[in-house]
Amino acid sequence: MFKNLNIIEPILKALAGEGYVKPTTIQERAIPAILEGRDVEGCAQTGTGKTAAFAVPILQLLYSGRKSGQAPRRTAGRVSALVLAPTRELAIQIGDSFTAYGKHTGLKNTVIFGGVSQKSQTDALRSGIDILVATPGRLLDLMQQKLVSLQDVKYFVLDEADRMLDMGLGRDVNRIISKLPHERQTMLFSATKSQEISKLMDSLLVNPVKVAVTPVSSTIEVISQEVYMVDKKNKKPLLVDLLKGNSADSVLVFSRTKHGANKITGDLIKSGIQAQAIHGNKSQNARQLALSNFKEKKIRVLVATDIAARGIDVEELPLVINFDLPDVPETYVHRIGRTGRAGAEGAAISFCDEEEKDMLKDIQKVISKKIPVVEDHPYAGLRASAAAVNPSSDKGRSPRQKPYADNGRKNNQRSRTNTKRPASAQR
Ligand code: AMP
Repeated sequence: MFKNLNIIEPILKALAGEGYVKPTTIQERAIPAILEGRDVEGCAQTGTGKTAAFAVPILQLLYSGRKSGQAPRRTAGRVSALVLAPTRELAIQIGDSFTAYGKHTGLKNTVIFGGVSQKSQTDALRSGIDILVATPGRLLDLMQQKLVSLQDVKYFVLDEADRMLDMGLGRDVNRIISKLPHERQTMLFSATKSQEISKLMDSLLVNPVKVAVTPVSSTIEVISQEVYMVDKKNKKPLLVDLLKGNSADSVLVFSRTKHGANKITGDLIKSGIQAQAIHGNKSQNARQLALSNFKEKKIRVLVATDIAARGIDVEELPLVINFDLPDVPETYVHRIGRTGRAGAEGAAISFCDEEEKDMLKDIQKVISKKIPVVEDHPYAGLRASAAAVNPSSDKGRSPRQKPYADNGRKNNQRSRTNTKRPASAQR
């Protein structure tokens, strides 16, 4: 229970309002450590409850500091807590979490990110803010304009540090860190721990409490995974067939490229399936709209690139489809981790063409298991004679070859030739 973690009443009330009953593992371990003033090194990905694991204690520490009169008064352009996130979507979600958990504390947060006018962001900063959630680029920009100062920061969170480095934001992050006071508490979260991340941890954290949850190499067990071996040009009709034969009401489809995401979206719409794309070339407004349409179930399919998908947090997402396999095997784990949240069952389907076979091998190495291959599908037999197949037509498909099993959460009995799951996939 959250009460056992010595969380104060105004926050407990907000958590109850969110419907949280029990803390997640990372919350159980990180919250007391942060409340004690320790630095934290968290190896955890989205879906583990890591946002509340740092947001709740930061809110509590700030609230207590204010009450006791120890914390400085709210001052225009200065902040007491800083959270850095790699993407706008993630930053917005973190801001929403602070708002939700802190709604009875009187503490104020704001979110700043690039790609939109800075006016409302600087207005908010001027009005006095306790907690700032920011993407690195815009924060540096506002720091250079002297619209925000980090000199009062007591709590610093670096979220999704690995993604931050992957996105080439390391230098910006370092420049921001160099402006932080030495006397501070630091919390660093990363889904993976490369050499570079270890170095960053060593340089930033002082005697940290280490909390590792669901390491990236162990794919969440509740997610059923399958792979369809399919020719590149048959991926589109296969996707349409799968979506039509599946009852999942929200499906996240991953494309390796922005162009691919647009193309898949267009093809789905032509086939009568409501879909929208979300990727870095879309305006901030278009991305927000696509995301809210998806969350509100106005569209069934969201087609995303990896970077845009970071931080997409949709409760009860039953199905993820990898239209393309990711180049970086760990990304596979991030992608499929979008489903099967909070213990719910989820399904992940991947398409693998000839050129992607090595990527599949690498992924299986990282997750230490073989992903079952669905052999019984209409495009399986067409691989050898692919040249003869018109990719946009249904010709060549016999009616008996339409066994698309429902990968929605209700049905776990899929029809495939190799129905026996590999030993490593069984508990
Ligand atoms: P995160 O890993 O922070 O992105 O959180 C993943 C999801 O879990 C979010 O939708 C949170 O609202 C939800 N969540 C976080 N903590 C809890 C909890 N203790 N009980 C139930 N849901 C939670």
